[in-house]
Amino acid sequence: MRTLIVGGVAGGMSAATRLRRMDETAEIIVFERSGHVSFANCGLPYYVGGVITHREALLLETPESINTRFQADVRVNTEVTAIDRAAKTVSVRDLATGREYTESYDNLILAPGAAPFVPPIPGAERALTLRNVADTDAMAAKVDDVLAGSEKSAVIMGGGFIGLELAENFVERGLKVTVVELANQIMAPLDVEMAIRVQWELESRGVDVITGVSVTEIGEGTVTLSDGGTLPAGMVIAAIGVRPE
Ligand SMILES: Cc1cc2nc3c(=O)[nH]c(=O)nc-3n(C[C@H](O)[C@H](O)[C@H](O)COP(=O)(O)OP(=O)(O)OC[C@H]3O[C@@H](n4cnc5c(N)ncnc54)[C@H](O)[C@@H]3O)c2cc1C
Repeated sequence: MRTLIVGGVAGGMSAATRLRRMDETAEIIVFERSGHVSFANCGLPYYVGGVITHREALLLETPESINTRFQADVRVNTEVTAIDRAAKTVSVRDLATGREYTESYDNLILAPGAAPFVPPIPGAERALTLRNVADTDAMAAKVDDVLAGSEKSAVIMGGGFIGLELAENFVERGLKVTVVELANQIMAPLDVEMAIRVQWELESRGVDVITGVSVTEIGEGTVTLSDGGTLPAGMVIAAIGVRPE
């Protein structure tokens, strides 16, 4: 039995390792578009903030370690571009070399996850998002750049878990942080009586929190808000949720 798995993070690697535990003979191939598998997503904001100091701490497994422990063929920088369900094959592109090939399967598991949503506003391409290790490296480098410049500030669109974790870590790095949240409270899963306490805690640490307002445009070093206001922004983060891939 040959099982192909698309996506090599939490869902895909859990499926691969569980399958190995259930079947010693299965052939397992995992395709992962990014350069890393099974990394510590939850730690990414804390690496940006310098709380996690060693990058290797984010990388729980490598393709080699998975292969050694679970005899799974893990192919990073490799994208599955199409599925032919009748023929039971997938089309694959090696992103490093551009080589395209097909692989056949008995079972196909899709674990492609979800990508950060960036609103279609002018200047949206200037917003950074955080999902994987490459994003983390880019964000950490941007924080260094911003701290070296004159506008040492960040605007974070979105007052959910990832937005607030980044706020905490940007403060740790010395940035002036504003969280802009479209809803009337941050932390949508909480009742407002609890969410306001989280907001007060953020404010006590110097974070500005603006609710009931959205970012309508991202300029060079500023953002425009739906109430007509503008904010200085050395960097801008979109942390307003994800969309299934
Ligand atoms: C910054 C951050 C902090 C988080 N903190 C926490 C936390 O503290 N607690 C918690 O419980 N959860 C946390 N999460 C959420 C958790 O990381 C996700 O729920 C989890 O990663 C989802 O795993 P997944 O495998 O379904 O999808 P993903 O992690 O999205 O992985 C899917 C992978 O599939 C790959 N892929 C997609 N399409 C293809 C294709 N066609 N071919 C090949 N590969 C493809 C993608 O490149 C991606 O790497 C956090 C997430 C982030 C981003």
